[in-house]
Amino acid sequence: MGLLIDREKCIGCGACAAQCPFGALALDAEGKAQANEACTACGSCTEACPVGALKIEAAEKKSAGIDPTEWRGVWVYAEQREGALHGVSFELLGEGRVLAEKLGVPLTAVLLGSGVEALAAPLFEHGADRVILADHPALAAYTAEAYAEALSALVRKYKPEALLAGATTIGRGFVPRVAIEVRTGLTADCTGLDIDPATRRLLQTRPAFGGNIMACIECPDHRPQMATVRPKVFKAAPAQPGRTGELVRETLDLKTPAVRVLETVHAMENEKNVADAEIIVTGGRGLGKPENFALLRELADALGGAAIGASRAAVDAGWISAFHQVGQTGKTVRPKVYIACGVSGQIQHLVGMNSSDTIIAINKDPDAPIFGVADIGIVGDLFQVVPEIIRALKA
Ligand SMILES: Cc1cc2nc3c(=O)[nH]c(=O)nc-3n(C[C@H](O)[C@H](O)[C@H](O)COP(=O)(O)OP(=O)(O)OC[C@H]3O[C@@H](n4cnc5c(N)ncnc54)[C@H](O)[C@@H]3O)c2cc1C
Repeated sequence: MGLLIDREKCIGCGACAAQCPFGALALDAEGKAQANEACTACGSCTEACPVGALKIEAAEKKSAGIDPTEWRGVWVYAEQREGALHGVSFELLGEGRVLAEKLGVPLTAVLLGSGVEALAAPLFEHGADRVILADHPALAAYTAEAYAEALSALVRKYKPEALLAGATTIGRGFVPRVAIEVRTGLTADCTGLDIDPATRRLLQTRPAFGGNIMACIECPDHRPQMATVRPKVFKAAPAQPGRTGELVRETLDLKTPAVRVLETVHAMENEKNVADAEIIVTGGRGLGKPENFALLRELADALGGAAIGASRAAVDAGWISAFHQVGQTGKTVRPKVYIACGVSGQIQHLVGMNSSDTIIAINKDPDAPIFGVADIGIVGDLFQVVPEIIRALKA
């Protein structure tokens, strides 16, 4: 983008300079408009010019210099932590299988780590046709630097057309680095993926503008088409015991990372994670104060050990840590039972929990939007309703 000034047309009236919000325009010695480096090509001067001497020219689209037909196959980054596969890997294999079949290409899982070869078997059983294993001491503990270097090297070598990864702390940490290193785009936190049969492009759907619209994003000129997906957005592919595939062992020549992991501390060991819970009891602003989460913990215990969730309002108020937050900027959950207490049900909360099997909402406002997604709605004061439920459960 750039500002073009037609000196023939310019009458030196100065209207453009008066209009420019950045002080980027002035008249030169010949009385003609001239732009300096402060110009952002915002275009406000073009409307002010009475003789049409100014225009913004769109930059010529540069070719990415790649031939998309050379890039084939769907890849899933198989995330493992301390030798255990993360559940999102199986969820992405389920979705990756669907995409690979639409494209008529194999589905590959990429496994990075040290001493993790045994994890290839469950990846085959969950749908991978091929597992590319990069086993290297530098990948023993996760560091964004080493993992990005390894995955980028594999992408450059094998040229997959699509690469999916979990929007976990690890996926969010190093996958954008890979996108930069291989010079492609990345759509974060997708909630839907599909293939355009006419173009073979990956259609990447994600909420935009605070969750008010769903945007469908394509990556036409660069490869691979990269997307991250939060845990629990897709259902895990069912295991097919005994299913196997091709194991490719890659030897990578990795730099010694600048970051060394000295110790791994499991900070939230005593807290149940909403992301994996079958029953979640969530508190919102309706709880009134942090101490009232004790009532929800009592309900959670009476239910046999449910996890505690929270709305962002409760987290922002400092009543509970962000570890518990459910929603667009929190975690996406898919429990068997989700009990929302004093949560209004704004769209940013709903996108994180509306795939729960059964939703029970307790709210004193009969018009609260949460009732729009609830299977069971209880209109009432949670401080009366919740103790009644606890009593009934204990009885
Ligand atoms: C970009 C963006 C991202 C966001 N991300 C998230 C997110 O990840 N998660 C999230 O939750 N929000 C998120 N939000 C905030 C969201 O828009 C809402 O502000 C938030 O969800 C409201 O929380 P709440 O329902 O607890 O509070 P409120 O909307 O204030 O609702 C409180 C509810 O409690 C009820 N109530 C009050 N007292 C009682 C009582 N005694 N008994 C029963 N019911 C009672 C009220 O009737 C009311 O419906 C986001 C917002 C933006 C702009």
